[in-house]
Amino acid sequence: MPTTDRATRRRGIDALLRHSPLQPVFRARAAHRLAVLAYHGIDDPAAFRAQMERLASTAHPVSPEQVARAAEHRRPLPPRSVLVTFDDGEPTVLTHALPVLARLRIPAAAYVITDLIDTDRPYWWTEAAQLIRRGGHTRTLHGLDSGAAVHHLKTVPDAERLRALAELRATAKRQAPPQRQLTAAELLALVAGGLTVGNHTASHPCLDHCSDTQLDAQLVRAHGRLTEWLGHPPTTFAYPNGNHDPRAETVLRTLGYRTAFLFDHRHTALAPAERLRISRLRVNSHTGRDRFDTILSGLHPAVHRLRGGR
Ligand SMILES: [Zn+2]
Repeated sequence: MPTTDRATRRRGIDALLRHSPLQPVFRARAAHRLAVLAYHGIDDPAAFRAQMERLASTAHPVSPEQVARAAEHRRPLPPRSVLVTFDDGEPTVLTHALPVLARLRIPAAAYVITDLIDTDRPYWWTEAAQLIRRGGHTRTLHGLDSGAAVHHLKTVPDAERLRALAELRATAKRQAPPQRQLTAAELLALVAGGLTVGNHTASHPCLDHCSDTQLDAQLVRAHGRLTEWLGHPPTTFAYPNGNHDPRAETVLRTLGYRTAFLFDHRHTALAPAERLRISRLRVNSHTGRDRFDTILSGLHPAVHRLRGGR
């Protein structure tokens, strides 16, 4: 099916769900759940502003600190509590999201990849895709297009991912183009604007595919850099790719983390029972109004799971 047909069909389904009798039922139930929204970059600033205005008028935005306290004291947050989060430290969080959040006084958290701060290096998955498009190849990725190759690299032991990346760099006709990343000074600008900056590891491997030593190094190195830049230790974390790992939880606990977030498209309790395993709902600035409402109500995630999504 052509992309435009697919998009039209998807919008039709979103509208159908939004106006179905199930939506008010789910919405009433969602009032007693915490919605943590997981964004990445902001591609459509106007649409993002509309989403945040909708939150400001229909929900109760809370900060990571409030979520941490609710979890620690088992004291539920107010009904319709929503926490806004951003993964990967895309510069659009600073340029597009921060002004909107500051104006509406919506607290939020940004989870950054510390090895990329103060550099112009692309995300590893962007780099891998670019290198493949520029003729880069490896034996293990043979025959896969760039999307399938990146997907595959998220499922192999991390040492194998790093080997494949090195091989792609060595075989591509040209290196991947640079990518603007946030600077340490910009992290402080985020904080000054009311955002909490959190740990998203040093280089964004899937932690469940790391050795004990790699996993430890990823968390500890990122923790150290953030402590140095922010002037205090970070206390909130987001698992790269949402991949939870019990060993990571142990390290995070030792380092004093109070909250850690998944990427599983679910609501969580208003007093989260597992503070280092808090569910999040997946959204982006392109998410249309109908879908945004059914994500917040939990209807979209329920249908997504019924259709076999994770
Ligand atoms: Zn990420």
